[in-house]
Amino acid sequence: MKYPDNIRDLVLLNPDYIGFIFYDKSKRFVAEIDEQTIKDIPSCIKKTGVFVDENASVILDYIKKYHLQAVQLHGSETSDTCLKIAESGVEVIKAFGVDEAFDFNQLLPYLDSVNYFLFDTKTKAHGGSGLTFNWQVLEKYTFSKPYFLSGGLGLENLDKVLAINDDRLYAVDLNSCFESEPAKKDIEKLKLAINKLRPILKETESMSYNVNEKGYYGDFGGAYIPEMLYPNVEHLRKEYLKIIYEPKFQEEFNQLLKDYVGRPSPLFLAERLSAKYGAKIYLKREDLNHTGAHKINNTIGQILLAERLGKKRIIAETGAGQHGVATATVCALKGLECVVYMGEIDIERQAPNVARMKMMGATVVPAISGSKTLKDATNEAMRDWINNPEDTHYIIGSVVGPHPYPDMVARFQSIISEETKWQLKEKTGSEYPDYVLACVGGGSNAIGMFYNFLDDEHVKLIAVEAAGLGVDSGESAATTALGREGVLHGSRSILMQTEDGQVTEPYSISAGLDYPGIGPQHAHLFKTKRAQYVSITDQESLDAGLLLAQTEGIIPAIESAHALAYLEKMKFKGNETVVVCLSGRGDKDLATYMKYFNL
Ligand SMILES: *Cc1c(COP(=O)(O)O)cnc(C)c1O
Repeated sequence: MKYPDNIRDLVLLNPDYIGFIFYDKSKRFVAEIDEQTIKDIPSCIKKTGVFVDENASVILDYIKKYHLQAVQLHGSETSDTCLKIAESGVEVIKAFGVDEAFDFNQLLPYLDSVNYFLFDTKTKAHGGSGLTFNWQVLEKYTFSKPYFLSGGLGLENLDKVLAINDDRLYAVDLNSCFESEPAKKDIEKLKLAINKLRPILKETESMSYNVNEKGYYGDFGGAYIPEMLYPNVEHLRKEYLKIIYEPKFQEEFNQLLKDYVGRPSPLFLAERLSAKYGAKIYLKREDLNHTGAHKINNTIGQILLAERLGKKRIIAETGAGQHGVATATVCALKGLECVVYMGEIDIERQAPNVARMKMMGATVVPAISGSKTLKDATNEAMRDWINNPEDTHYIIGSVVGPHPYPDMVARFQSIISEETKWQLKEKTGSEYPDYVLACVGGGSNAIGMFYNFLDDEHVKLIAVEAAGLGVDSGESAATTALGREGVLHGSRSILMQTEDGQVTEPYSISAGLDYPGIGPQHAHLFKTKRAQYVSITDQESLDAGLLLAQTEGIIPAIESAHALAYLEKMKFKGNETVVVCLSGRGDKDLATYMKYFNL
C-alpha cells in the first residue's frame, strides 16, 4: 500500500496484515509516505515491511521508524539475516518463489529463524506478477511451519484456495488481482474476497481477543439497548472507526494528549520496589496525566468524536466523580454543555469532585431513585439520551456499555500499552515484559495496558479486582470470583447477581473499583484464560499504597494500589520484567489513607 486514503479505507476492512514495499525497483515502492499514516494503523493490523536483499541494519531502522510489526523478505536473505531481524521482536515472513522444480529442503536452515514462509510464483521480479503457481507442488512441503499463499490470488480462484485442505495454510496474500493500479487496492473487490474467506478464518477468529463485526468478544458484548436508543447507538457504530482514523482526528487527538494531558506518561523503573520483590518493576505513570488518572485519554477521544458528530451537548454518569471530572474538563476545553448524572449519596460523599465539575461549568444532576448511586445515575443518563437523541453525545467512562463503546474506549486507552512498548524497548531492548498488571473496575485502564500485548501470549496479563472486605464476606466487588454471565448496561458480560438475576450491590473501599460488572472484553479474556483475574482486599491495597509512598515517594490512587498489592503474592524467578499500570494518583484518597493510618 502507499496511498493514504486507500490505506484508511483498507483499515476499515480489518485485515490481519498490511504490507509496504520498501524496495525501490518495485512499482509499488513506498517512496514518500507520511510516517504518521503508517503509525496510525491500529496495532491489531500488523504493519508489514517488504524488503528484497536489504541490509539488516537498514531494515531495523525501518522497523523503528514506522513501528513495523512484521517483515516480509523477498530476496535471497540468509537464515542469519532472518534471525537478526526476528530478534528485534517483529514477525519474520520469508518468501520463496516456487515452481515445479523447487527443492523444499532449502527451507531447513530457516525453520528456527522465521515465523512463516510465504510461497509465491517464481518470477524474476520478486512477486507481484499476478500469476499463480501449481499448488500441487505444496504436497512436497513436509515441515510444520505455517505459510502464506501468494501469487495471482483473485476472486476467480478463491474457491480453489478454500478447497486446499492444509492446516499449515495460515494466510493468503491478496495483491495484484485486487489492484486498480499498482499499490492501489480496489476496496469493493477486497470486501467480496474477505467475506468469502471469513468462513475458513473462523477458527482463528475465535482466538481473536478483539471485537468482531457484530460487536462480540466470543460470547460477550453486543448491544442490548432499549429500542429508543437504537438510532443513536447505530449511528455511532457506523461512524466511529471512520472518524477516529481520519488523519485530522488523529492529529488533534495526539496533539491534545501531548500538550494538554502531558503524554507520553513516563515508564518509571521503581528500583527500591524492584529490590524488595526480586524483579524489574516498572510503573506506567498514568497518575501524572492532567486530572490525575487515565480517564482523560478516553474523554479527549470522545469529545473530539462528539464534535465531529455535530453534537452540542455532552452527558455522562459518574460514581465517585472521577469520570465526571474528566468529562467536565474536556467540555470546558471545547466549550460544550456538560450534564453529569450522579447518585445523591455519591454527591454527599464526593464533595470535592462535585465542586471541581461545577467550577468547570458542568451541571451535576442528582439521581434520587433506587440506591442513589452509580447504577441509578447510569439509568438517568440513558433516559436523558433517549430524550435528546439529536444534539447529545453520551460519554461512557469505561470499557462497558453497548457496542461500540467497549471497543471505542479500548482504542482510546490503548495509548497506554502503545507507549509502554517503545518505552520498554528503549530501556530494556525488548518491547515485551514478562508480566503486566492493572486494576479492574469496568476495566478501561487494564484494557489500555493489555491492548498491544494481547496477541503475544508469552506476556502474562494480570487483572486485579477489588475483594473489599474479602471475597466471601458479602462486601466485595470481585466480579469474576462472584459473578455469572448476564446483561448489564447494554452488553453481555459477567456480573454479580442474585439467584434470580438481580444485580448485587458491590462494595470496595476504592470508589473506582466499586462496580458489579466488568467490560465484555474482560469477560472474554477471563473465559479464554488469556488473562488471569485475581483480587485484593481493602486492607491489602491500603498497605500497598503506604508501601509505595514510603519506598518510591509516590502516593497511588487506592484503585491502582490494588494492582501493586498483588506483587506481594507473586513469585519471581529473578530478573523478570513487570509493568504495573499506576492508573491514578492518591490525592483524592488522602482522607481514607489518613483514617486508616492515623496520619
Ligand atoms: C476510574 C478508575 C479506575 C477504574 O476504572 P477502569 O475503567 O477499570 O480503569 C481505576 N483507577 C483509577 C485511578 C480510576 O480513577
